[in-house]
Amino acid sequence: MNLRISGPTPLPPEVREAAARQMVSHRSEPFRACIRAIVPRLLPIFGTSEPPLLFTASGTGGMEAALLNTLDPGQRVLAIRAGMFGDRFAEIARHGGLDVSDLEVPWGQAVSPDDLRKRLQRDSGFDAVLVTHNESSTGVCNPLEQVARVVREESRALLLVDAVSSAAGIPIEMDLWGADVVVTVSQKALMSPPGLAILAVSERAFQAAEKGSASYYFDFKKMREAVAEGTTTYTPAVSSFYGLEAALGLIDEEGLGNVYRRHERLALKCRKGLESLGMECFAAAGAASPTITSVLLPEGPSATKVRDRLESEHAVFVAQGRREYKERMLRIGHMGWVGDQEIGAVLDAFGSVLQDIQSG
Ligand SMILES: *Cc1c(COP(=O)(O)O)cnc(C)c1O
Repeated sequence: MNLRISGPTPLPPEVREAAARQMVSHRSEPFRACIRAIVPRLLPIFGTSEPPLLFTASGTGGMEAALLNTLDPGQRVLAIRAGMFGDRFAEIARHGGLDVSDLEVPWGQAVSPDDLRKRLQRDSGFDAVLVTHNESSTGVCNPLEQVARVVREESRALLLVDAVSSAAGIPIEMDLWGADVVVTVSQKALMSPPGLAILAVSERAFQAAEKGSASYYFDFKKMREAVAEGTTTYTPAVSSFYGLEAALGLIDEEGLGNVYRRHERLALKCRKGLESLGMECFAAAGAASPTITSVLLPEGPSATKVRDRLESEHAVFVAQGRREYKERMLRIGHMGWVGDQEIGAVLDAFGSVLQDIQSG
């Protein structure tokens, strides 16, 4: 099976084996050793020197945690919305009683740092800016470094980043760039089982969190203290932690720079290959994501039909477009444990299905 959705992603054998281990007490020494192995290996992935927080949750839980710890109801946030996950971040903020303004970006495009600058110059009173680093619904990577620079230069806002489908596949230098909370998960480029929301938090964001959290469970202060002692606040997804420890070992072996280059190379191969089969890359030139490719199908076959045949005839599992693109777009995930063979198989399968449909 070639699982090429935007997550969960396939597990390397070493990760599957680690995740299948017997339970231990999460307060025991062996489990503390696991956390102490995980934490330093996460630092370069975020580009931070602060140990990240390890919540047992999905990415959405991590996004909610970022908002509820650093902001109070009524505070103003600017949500950069370039797709479905940008919409979700804004929605969680509204749900939490924040005063949300939107910076809408057409689907398929990356946010323009100039547009953001103009918006912040017009209105600099935001307490936070929300951005999706890699928008999985459109296959677009937003220019996080430039976004962070503009936010720093034009405002005092915290920058909260959904890096769920980028971290460990696309470089992030949060300390250097000045991002404040960067959220990712275990089940995407980190090629581990679902279960962990991992949040890297700046000193500024920890200060903002001093007021306490509106959520009892997602509490930055308590989790920071727990992680410092090699544990977590409440019972963690133990198997996912073991899986993540093994996955981080594999990333270390390959070298993080090589991991990033592999993602770039495979993304290009996927994009070019699909274009040569008559599909159109949905992401604007220069904005295509290294971890997920979105393509528009040629006139004719519905995305549901193509997807079904990829699955049933070739065991290739891809994702469909979202909303109005549901029947026109397919999205191919290539993050985490993926190589030339898997992308080659995707291209062969697409070629065969499309040719078959077109020849009637
Ligand atoms: C997958 C994804 C999420 C949501 O993750 P869940 O773990 O399903 O809650 C959020 N943002 C982006 C960009 C994603 O790709």
